[in-house]
Amino acid sequence: MELNKCAKCGKLFPSNEDLCSNCLSQDLKDLETVRKFLLDNLKKNTIEEICSETGVSKKDILRFISKGRFDDIDNLGEFFTCVYCKKPIKRGRYCDDCLSKFHKIKDELSPK
Ligand SMILES: [Zn+2]
Ligand SMILES: [Zn+2]
Repeated sequence: MELNKCAKCGKLFPSNEDLCSNCLSQDLKDLETVRKFLLDNLKKNTIEEICSETGVSKKDILRFISKGRFDDIDNLGEFFTCVYCKKPIKRGRYCDDCLSKFHKIKDELSPK
């Protein structure tokens, strides 16, 4: 089995999960706390505010978002900006428009 570094405490542990067993239950609690807060306060928050209101660290909140934990919540605030056109986006580095443009350019450049 592979050793993995816990995304929360940094401990090495033998699993393919993101978190060690010590952190997993706390992480699920944090996830529920943040999710509940988001559902009660749609579109009103920056990550800093969610952080201070829920007591969950920014690093953990960003990890939840990047893992798509809140993708099912409609009207979730947009926490990131597209690196390219600065449009607000929910996650990742580029908005869908820019991504599809990039794919087109890539297709045009690549040899047929
Ligand atoms: Zn851990
Ligand atoms: Zn963009």
